[in-house]
Amino acid sequence: MSRSRVIAGNWKMHKTPSEARAFARELLAQLGGAARPEGVEVVLCPSFPALTAVHAEIERSGLGAWVSLGAQDLYWERQGAFTGEVSGPMLADAGCRYVIVGHSERRHLLGESDEWVARKLRAALESGLTPILCVGETLEERRQGLTETVVSRQLETALEGLAAGAVAGVVVAYEPVWAIGTGENATGEEAHRVIDGVIRSRVRARFGEEAAGRLRIQYGGSVNPANIGEFMAYPSIDGALVGGASLKVDSFTAIVAAG
Ligand code: PEP
Repeated sequence: MSRSRVIAGNWKMHKTPSEARAFARELLAQLGGAARPEGVEVVLCPSFPALTAVHAEIERSGLGAWVSLGAQDLYWERQGAFTGEVSGPMLADAGCRYVIVGHSERRHLLGESDEWVARKLRAALESGLTPILCVGETLEERRQGLTETVVSRQLETALEGLAAGAVAGVVVAYEPVWAIGTGENATGEEAHRVIDGVIRSRVRARFGEEAAGRLRIQYGGSVNPANIGEFMAYPSIDGALVGGASLKVDSFTAIVAAG
């Protein structure tokens, strides 16, 4: 089954709205100036305050057919007295098509549980947003041989109770925590083993062949222009979630071109 690949840039807590606007303009000009890589979708995930500015730049560029706006998080309630939180309908109205849920920085620095991530994933789907569900083991868990256990638990809790059709529309990002922002990436073979041997095979067992075949699964963790080719050489890996290297126009453009 052929799947489109997704190259997503997670800008984290970088760039003010005006910096994000200028950056997006330059990036989109560079992306638009080159041929669109076949079967590749691009997602830009700025901070909440910069969403509207980046959305306007995507519209202005005319690249909206293959470049989408994404948010870095959402809350599961639609509205109400939840100070500081942002809901799925708000994001959709701001022009988002994607939203990251369960990023390791939120799980480990901000204490998000598997159950919270599951609620956020449902809220994203209910708002018509495509969730990018992040899963991945810490260095300690890897050392203890717990990669499969941790990734399976995070994945299965998040997808519990969903219909197979909904699961097929999720994007999963396998992001080993030890590889995020460290400059130390998993090898293509290591990523493939978890993506195919754990994530896709668990989805196949629970939700069937069709959902497993349609599910897009990215790798994330210190992806850069020099190593993206190693991941994209595996047909099981459907793109990348990129942090640091998405903050530089040339690096991100090169990653998209290789996607
Ligand atoms: C991330 O934040 O999801 C990420 C993968 O970061 P980096 O590419 O910087 O490792």
